[in-house]
Amino acid sequence: ASLFTAIEMAPRDPILGITEGFNADQNPNKTNLGVGVYYDDNGKLPLLECVRKAEAELMAKLSPRGYLPIDGLAAYDKAVQELVFGADSAVVKEKRAVTVQAIGGTGALKLGADFLKRFSNDNAQVWISDPSWENHRALFESAGFTVNNYPYYDAATRGVNFVGMMEALNNMASGSIVVLHACCHNPTGADLNHDQWTQVIEVVLKRGLIPFLDMAYQGFADGITEDGEVVRRFAQAGGPLFVSNSFSKSFSLYGERVGALSIVAASTEEASRVLSQLKRVVRTNYSNPPIHGGQVVATVLASPELRKLWEEELAGMRVRIREMRQLLVKKLKEQAPAQDFDFVTKQRGMFSYSGLTKPQVERLRDEFSIYAVDTGRICVAALNTKNIDAVVAAIAKVL
Ligand code: PLP
Repeated sequence: ASLFTAIEMAPRDPILGITEGFNADQNPNKTNLGVGVYYDDNGKLPLLECVRKAEAELMAKLSPRGYLPIDGLAAYDKAVQELVFGADSAVVKEKRAVTVQAIGGTGALKLGADFLKRFSNDNAQVWISDPSWENHRALFESAGFTVNNYPYYDAATRGVNFVGMMEALNNMASGSIVVLHACCHNPTGADLNHDQWTQVIEVVLKRGLIPFLDMAYQGFADGITEDGEVVRRFAQAGGPLFVSNSFSKSFSLYGERVGALSIVAASTEEASRVLSQLKRVVRTNYSNPPIHGGQVVATVLASPELRKLWEEELAGMRVRIREMRQLLVKKLKEQAPAQDFDFVTKQRGMFSYSGLTKPQVERLRDEFSIYAVDTGRICVAALNTKNIDAVVAAIAKVL
């Protein structure tokens, strides 16, 4: 027997499995709505103009590739902090927030999970929404936590089960870690409204819970500032705060792995101790982050001209997704008038919990080469004016 004789095959990643199936499909009219990626109206992954320009600038003054500091590029960390909390926010001015560059949003969550495992109560548990991005559970479990679900999605109203969510928050042990989607909830597209956030912030403070805001889609709901508002509200409310953010989607820089983890502490002195320990977590995981992606984002955010371009390009993505939601609903009304799909226009971000059942998703795949997640989650950002008619016709047939 070899060392590996007893090793079992790991289960396939459900979403990457969809892409494997899609890639193997020979149908020229195949459509992949299973991914979490923004495509343009030609079905192509965009290279943003602001990124192209920043890269041209960087190429013109190529520099040697020394190691970055453990916490990443200083200009990047500063830019992220100002983007996430606001340059004139108290936590930034009082140096109570610390930010480290991370390997995408996933890497930021992993750093936060490892840090919390070392420094939270021995018996603290993690709570994620039901349902949530499937990697939330795995990331916190692999850091050694027990992970629970709080009620979130209500299939009957296609909105948030806010009463259930609040009841769960009110019953969590003090010191529990609550993972919240800052905007554009993945997978449902259902977000809390302003007043609901007010109540969540209140109960988190009152019960001494540790909020961990995951913001992977800033700018995809209402705008960069609007979507970041919840982070600023939590920061203002006081108490410890963890924020993971990602530029994978908002800069279309998926493969560069650009994200960050920010932690808000009670004082400058506390923040510097937190940062010192956070750097140890980085050091023992991968030592220090890569240069290129962070440099691109820092260059764009620091240049008024490139930043304006980024905001316009991000707005373009946001508006196109919104148009696809409206078009999908309009066309479904024509082809499948018996069913109401208006809720699709109320959902936010890249995804829609479409209400399609597993057997319907299977028929879409087997009969029409249209790939979606078994839960009925479709990526609206993968729809375009060329594929939408075929998608609508197929949905109308399987309903
Ligand atoms: N968090 C959520 C809710 C996500 O949907 C994603 C990506 O799909 C991530 C985090 C991870 O982002 P990244 O690709 O930057 O690791």
